[in-house]
Amino acid sequence: MKCTVCREPASVKTQHHRGLFCRDHFRDHVLRQVSRVIDRYRLLAPGERVLLGVSGGKDSMAAWDILRRLGYDVLAFHINNGFGEHSAQSEALVREFAAQRGWALEIVSMTRTLGFDFETARLHSRRPACGLCGTLKRYVLNQAGLRFHCDAVATGHNLDDESALLLGNLLHWHDEYLRRQYPLAPAEPGMARKIKPLVRLTDEETRQYAAQFCIPVFAGRCPHSRGATSHAHKRILAGIEREFSGTIAQFYFGYVERVRAGRPVAPPGWRREARADSPSDATARCAECGYKTLHRDRCYVCTLKRRVAGSEAHAG
Ligand code: SF4
Ligand SMILES: [Zn+2]
Ligand SMILES: [Zn+2]
Repeated sequence: MKCTVCREPASVKTQHHRGLFCRDHFRDHVLRQVSRVIDRYRLLAPGERVLLGVSGGKDSMAAWDILRRLGYDVLAFHINNGFGEHSAQSEALVREFAAQRGWALEIVSMTRTLGFDFETARLHSRRPACGLCGTLKRYVLNQAGLRFHCDAVATGHNLDDESALLLGNLLHWHDEYLRRQYPLAPAEPGMARKIKPLVRLTDEETRQYAAQFCIPVFAGRCPHSRGATSHAHKRILAGIEREFSGTIAQFYFGYVERVRAGRPVAPPGWRREARADSPSDATARCAECGYKTLHRDRCYVCTLKRRVAGSEAHAG
């Protein structure tokens, strides 16, 4: 096995980009993929300050290293979800890595930040665990991005994550989520710019990147992840990819490029018709915290806070 660039012995083989690389050329390949996404979708300008959500998993840990190598000013931000030993171990890993490299890191407790823990939130919400957890983490990340005056808030979502999400959103015709599914969500009042720079890399590539560059990865399984539909969608897409190589990238980038070109994927006028009864039109703001909301006057997190405080009678 020889590196296709320099003909030295290869240490990495990637299915997705069908490449054989030595360590250095694998790093160049990964940095090139991320740079392409940043440039094409205008995620960041050179040297901008990025708040990066790091969970301790392979994608966010790889993103931390990659964005720094590309010259961005990265403030890593870890949210301790309060999931007992699982959260304690992931926090310890992230903390140790930051100390070892001398890199900037902020850690917050979700429970202390929101005023209630995840189990309590679940009692007041009908959303599945991962949907609820994602909502809470996005909220905390957004507020942190604004508080630390970062130019953008980045997450480590990769091609497999985003294509599974797209499949789920299409299967259930979640129009609101489909509209947002793009590597960039520009900044708006009360909302930090959101970016997903790893969308050209697969699970396999971020795993290999972490392994090649001695980046520790927390491999523990989240106690709430059982039965997550995203895992099933990933398995389905992986099966299709085995049969028809390249399909996942075509599926995801086919969608994203249509959005980029301003071409709706549904007949013209679908947006207004689909949400004619909605007061939000995606511009409503929470009267309590200023967060963008699809609800009438209060975002989901502020609604949960009220429910938890007992000021609203019904969960739902
Ligand atoms: S697996 Fe689900 S519940 Fe667990 S951290 Fe991830 S999104 Fe949250
Ligand atoms: Zn090489
Ligand atoms: Zn709010």
